[in-house]
Amino acid sequence: MNEQRSAGADGGERRRPGGCGRALSAAYDTALLDLDGVVYAGGQAIAHAVESLTAARDGGMHLAYVTNNAARTPEAVAGQLSGFGLPTTAADVITSAQAVARLIAEQVPAGSRVLAIGGEGLRVALRERGLVPVASADDDPAAVVQGYDPALDWERLAEAAYAVQRGVPWFASNTDLTIPKERGIAPGNGALVEVVRIAAGGAPQVAGKPQPPMHRETVLRTGARRPLVVGDRLDTDIEGAWNGGVDSLLVLTGVTTPAGLLAAPPEHRPSYVAADLRGLLVPQPEVTGDGTGFRCGGWHAAASGAELVVDGAGDPLDGLRALCAAAWTAAGAGRCTADAAGALRQLGM
Ligand SMILES: [Mg+2]
Repeated sequence: MNEQRSAGADGGERRRPGGCGRALSAAYDTALLDLDGVVYAGGQAIAHAVESLTAARDGGMHLAYVTNNAARTPEAVAGQLSGFGLPTTAADVITSAQAVARLIAEQVPAGSRVLAIGGEGLRVALRERGLVPVASADDDPAAVVQGYDPALDWERLAEAAYAVQRGVPWFASNTDLTIPKERGIAPGNGALVEVVRIAAGGAPQVAGKPQPPMHRETVLRTGARRPLVVGDRLDTDIEGAWNGGVDSLLVLTGVTTPAGLLAAPPEHRPSYVAADLRGLLVPQPEVTGDGTGFRCGGWHAAASGAELVVDGAGDPLDGLRALCAAAWTAAGAGRCTADAAGALRQLGM
């Protein structure tokens, strides 16, 4: 069994989900958990999240929470998680504000002023690195940084644009274009970065998932030696794990659909797939090739012309794993474009 990076990898491209003979919570020392769509959604804990994480921790797995949301402080996030019944300290929460503050501190003199266009979480992270948050482009900042803040107004975005136009080095905590809210999909920090770019041109240095500074911050703060990234989003969580060279578990409780997973290019293919966080507590089945297609559990899947087909019985997730192998192998380094609608219907997905 090979648990390092290469779970399911084949010649540098991941072509099937990996198997793991032990529970993932025993095979990896630290879970690096995304929050929205994994632990909670719209202020409510996701089904099975609290019990599964409690069991994983009781079994010895260290839990750390990794969020691209720079608005809130680690203390605030830890308080929310503790309120769900997951006792969490601020040290177990890593935010993109912390990652971008470290990135800035490496590039400007100690004690520099930084124009902070974001929430309290961003300002706290800057102070933690010995930097001084300021509010105006006229405050002689050594850098300008943007982080998500639901209370942000036009005047502060304009300050960012003025500083960028003057050549002040520009940073962003993350560039997620959208953020899921209880009433729908809303503009994320990436959309606010675009507003500044339209006015000022250029592009910021970005710290958040899937960029390496976020993964580096996480490993530095947790001391993880064999981490497992757990997320719901392919282009942040899973790609961030891929860029960091560590294994990942995709849970289907958030934004990723089975069809989206089948169409994933190599950097978006997770090491493992589970319906929800109960997947941390169990071994992962092997997907095997048999010359005509791929088997997992009671299912057999293949790419047949322009269509993906699946046949069998048992846990539908095993069918999805077999389909992933058929789709990813057919696509190689690209995206699978075969029609999966009939196969997913057969799995009830
Ligand atoms: Mg998420």
